[in-house]
Amino acid sequence: MAPQILTVLGSTGSIGVSTLDVVARHPERFRIHALTGATQLEKLHDQCLAFSPRYVVVLAEPAAETLRARLRASGSETEVLCGEAALERVASDPAVTTVMAAIVGAAGMRPTLAAARAGKRVLLANKETLVLAGRLFMDEATRCGATLLPIDSEHNAIFQVLPRAYREAPYAGTLCAAGVKRILLTASGGPFRQRPLATLADVTPEEAVRHPNWSMGRKISVDSASMMNKGLEVIEARWLFNADVDDIAVVVHPQSIVHSMVEYVDGSVLAQLGAPDMRIPITYGLAYPERAESGAASLDLFSVGRLDFEAPDLARFPCLRLAFEALRAGGAATAVLNAANEVAVAAFLDRRLGYTGIPALIDAVLAECEGQTCAESLDALMDADALARERADAWLGARR
Ligand code: NDP
Ligand code: MG
Repeated sequence: MAPQILTVLGSTGSIGVSTLDVVARHPERFRIHALTGATQLEKLHDQCLAFSPRYVVVLAEPAAETLRARLRASGSETEVLCGEAALERVASDPAVTTVMAAIVGAAGMRPTLAAARAGKRVLLANKETLVLAGRLFMDEATRCGATLLPIDSEHNAIFQVLPRAYREAPYAGTLCAAGVKRILLTASGGPFRQRPLATLADVTPEEAVRHPNWSMGRKISVDSASMMNKGLEVIEARWLFNADVDDIAVVVHPQSIVHSMVEYVDGSVLAQLGAPDMRIPITYGLAYPERAESGAASLDLFSVGRLDFEAPDLARFPCLRLAFEALRAGGAATAVLNAANEVAVAAFLDRRLGYTGIPALIDAVLAECEGQTCAESLDALMDADALARERADAWLGARR
């Protein structure tokens, strides 16, 4: 079989590095066409030497110049491009078959959309694309014949246990017609599942990024601690699987072994289990519909011992409640939620905002933007994103 030709958007991040780890295990199956990063130039340099891509993309010209000089000195022939247009170009290049969308945040939306519009096989890690522009993105992916393979572990699990015809064309039918009663989205509950509520205001960035089961980038780690990550994932599932908000239930499962489940009308519940290692869903996406070695350890059920499940506590995790409310509100509310959350998390990581300030800020921004945004076009959604960021900055400024 001809090898897949890959662009890895966000190759220096947690998902990007795991993707390259899997690619290196199967040199006959995958070739790297382009890599992209933002700040970690030395890591990008090393990745270029290891994978010899045709292109590498960074955000700004000074970084491009530095990387160019480093690569030239190392004898690399990789061409350095820069800027957002270059990200879209390497995501839609006719030479590319497959795009791993692993930039973090709303910044990943345009290149991911470019890949979908070019009809690529899109391995979707960047959940913010669907939170910001779910309907538009799914419409474009369907219209342009893109193949979407979810990489988020929960969505990858759900994809694996849905009927094949449905998962490959969810908008050609309905969950109900496919015999599905509901989607059970599992959540670890993060590091603060049992922490006394009165001490949440004292949470530090170091505590928030220390996830009990997964090793991930800083932004998603904070989202996991606040359970905003699960809120974003409910929205992601709504769009990926053409599900109604009421078709999706969140189940807290602290061991992160059951990665999600689908309940069928006959009462059967199908689950996908595995070690908490992102190389498993990444390899599934890369090899689909085949299977390949991922490098992940075998699941040792005897050392796991037990699997627990509990209902989510919306008083402890107001971000999850806010995400459900935004999804029900519709329009551009989830774009506002996403942007406000990005500003709040960045401020928290910078120690400009306390941990309990995260939901307070998002709640205030959602209220302020109500009735002032619409989701009719990409421009309208980007306007909603910009308005929310502006209001979030003003909210932070007023408390300084
Ligand atoms: P990281 O923070 O580890 O990596 C983010 C990547 O995006 C890096 O390559 C970074 O470059 C690049 N980047 C950051 N800002 C920009 C920007 N403005 N423009 C272009 N590139 C940028 O994130 P993760 O790998 O953890 O997550 C990536 C995505 O995957 C997120 O959307 C996350 O929600 C999702 N995801 C991640 C999971 C995980 O286990 N990590 C699990 C499920 C989903 P640099 O590092 O060079 O600055
Ligand atoms: Mg997840």
